[in-house]
Amino acid sequence: MVNNLYVVTPRGFCAGVEMAIKALTWMLKIYDETIYCYHEIVHNDWIVEKFRDKNVKFIESPDELPLDGVLMLSAHGTAPKIEESFKKVSSIQVNAVCPLVTKVHHEAKRFTESGKKIIYVGHKNHDEALGALGVAPDSMFLVEKEEDLKEIDLQNEEVALLAQTTLAMSEWKPIMESAKDMYPNLNMPRKSDLCYATTNRQEAVINVSSLVDVVIVVGSDTSSNTKALVTTIKNLGKESYRIDSTKELDKLNLSGKDVAITAGASAPDHIVQEIISKLKPEKTELFSNTKETEYFPLPKELRLNITSISSFLLELFPDNNIQPTKSVNKDKLWTATEALSSL
Ligand code: SF4
Repeated sequence: MVNNLYVVTPRGFCAGVEMAIKALTWMLKIYDETIYCYHEIVHNDWIVEKFRDKNVKFIESPDELPLDGVLMLSAHGTAPKIEESFKKVSSIQVNAVCPLVTKVHHEAKRFTESGKKIIYVGHKNHDEALGALGVAPDSMFLVEKEEDLKEIDLQNEEVALLAQTTLAMSEWKPIMESAKDMYPNLNMPRKSDLCYATTNRQEAVINVSSLVDVVIVVGSDTSSNTKALVTTIKNLGKESYRIDSTKELDKLNLSGKDVAITAGASAPDHIVQEIISKLKPEKTELFSNTKETEYFPLPKELRLNITSISSFLLELFPDNNIQPTKSVNKDKLWTATEALSSL
């Protein structure tokens, strides 16, 4: 049994993950056929399995999409060339990219068009990094750690620095500072590419860490922002463990310890609640660090489809209480957790 348990907020689903899960749920409700999804919709094993069970097929290349297949592009962002290849095969294509990833794609395009070379800080082969680097493959250079900066010589170039949205601040900051030293005229976006959800969750665990012996982070091994939370806590010299379900609790020695629990941006909260129940803490306290109010609307293509279907139904059944625009606007009141439960 653990001693005190601090349940940290904000934790779990961010606005981008909320939107992507709801968008894929809508697709399943509207189209009575297999929905193909490029990359895992979000990086969480439980969610991916849930959708797989409901006839979503996750694919890694346009070659895997059958002709006229119905396709969703994941929250991590897709390289423009891949998106174009998909368009040649798909009958319906909805892009559930997070707007904050799109922002990085726009920055990459803008810097490239003005003749700059781009150092992109990210994780090799991560879906988001692959998508971003695909915006300008000839002028973008991936850097994972500080030493990698020495491997690229851009001294005679105008240079810009961009980043994957889900990095640990401790991964990003040293690279950013070294890059500034190497390139005094370094161009950077006005606001850091690390997204609000990544930084809020990291700030929260930094602030709770002085109160506890251990911080448990709920999330999958594929989730970059989840692993960034573990890194952030370990950098403070604290114990931290990433777990995906209650099954992994048994291997941890938490008896008599003060523990905090948080979750990466793609981890469903019911798993957090199951873990809390199994921990059987002496005392539970909420540790609230910041309030998040961000909301990202459904992808435009999907909103148009929903509105058209609602309008058609209204034409067929004029007495029906369907209000096309309102049904899309009401999406704000529907949570991804509810969407998942409706499957
Ligand atoms: S972690 Fe950030 S960038 Fe990624 S989906 Fe969530 S809000 Fe968007």
